[in-house]
Amino acid sequence: MINKQLKLILVSTPIGYLGSGKGGGVELTIVSLIKGLISLGHEIILIAPKGSKLPFESELVEIRLIDGIDQPSWQHQKKTDPVLIPSNSVLPKLWETAIDLANQSDAVINFAYDWLPLWLTKIQGIKIFHLISMGAESIIMKEIISQISQLYPFQLAFHTARQSQDYSLKTDPIIVGNGFDMENYLFNEKENGPLGWAGRIAPEKGLEDAVKVAKDLDEKLLVWGLIEDKEYASEIENTYTKGIIEWRGFLPTNKFQEQLGRCRALINTPKWNEAYGNVIVEAMACGVPVIAYDLGGPGELIEDGFNGFLVNPNDIKGLIKATKSISEIKRRNCRDWFEKKATNKVFAERVLNWLNKGLDTKISADFQN
Ligand code: UDP
Repeated sequence: MINKQLKLILVSTPIGYLGSGKGGGVELTIVSLIKGLISLGHEIILIAPKGSKLPFESELVEIRLIDGIDQPSWQHQKKTDPVLIPSNSVLPKLWETAIDLANQSDAVINFAYDWLPLWLTKIQGIKIFHLISMGAESIIMKEIISQISQLYPFQLAFHTARQSQDYSLKTDPIIVGNGFDMENYLFNEKENGPLGWAGRIAPEKGLEDAVKVAKDLDEKLLVWGLIEDKEYASEIENTYTKGIIEWRGFLPTNKFQEQLGRCRALINTPKWNEAYGNVIVEAMACGVPVIAYDLGGPGELIEDGFNGFLVNPNDIKGLIKATKSISEIKRRNCRDWFEKKATNKVFAERVLNWLNKGLDTKISADFQN
């Protein structure tokens, strides 16, 4: 067990600054984990793109801000695409700083779903831990993750078992779930609110299927999230009756949870192997049951009939049936599930157990791939 105070370097996503929404769920994961780790007395250096902010202050956290161009995200490239690093990219700069500071720390944790930090793990003598935030969206990423698993299996962790199944791993995957600050989400017991959907507005998130449910039930659908793909968003608006979607924008957590908490259900309709599904757990934290496709993370977060319903992927009729039955789910069950499984404190403890396992392992001597 780790019982000393650790000094940890956390390297943020290079897709956007923390607070921009471009990084998707990873942004909240980092913020929540930092809060969980400092509540247990650990010290953090956060290395993040310029503009990043934390919604709290602590003398246990130091932030190093790095200027540079955002990396393109892997989920919007072809599986066979090569590694791409734009001129003046923030990614190598984040890692130059991390390597400079590494010898002052017990471990470095990488939150970027990108090739460079994984490759650095093979050639640098420092312990870099990787919390993998997506399923295998690219062949070269799949290859490097498999190589790291062969060399340093305990330096990789995943959010869910289903996500990890996308990769060829040497040992059983380390699953750390995710975690959220309990104080930020208020339980709302009112049952008869509107239907909601939340996430990045991008094809892999399948917003159109939730719109079909709202249309069938002749209701509005409240939608929160960053419009990442404008063409896709307007195509949905033009295909379905205008006015079904009530766009609520990308809100900070306090406002997001307040509005989300008034929903009677959240509909979650991923079209890819969703690694986790932050918005599912955030809804449950507010007492909102979730109806989701049984694909990737949602299948491990929703206990069918207890905190929501699972439906076969792309089964619109199944979504409609589940939505009509949503009053069978007790809102209190949803909050209870969250408090037991997904607070940032339990998440931080799972992450510390992972680090402990990796720090106990000697760095493998065979560097060959
Ligand atoms: N989100 C937010 N404000 C909003 C809507 C969404 O901050 O108005 C955040 C939400 O808290 C979550 C993230 O957007 O952390 C979406 O993450 P998720 O894991 O659901 O999907 P990803 O974008 O990572 O694929």
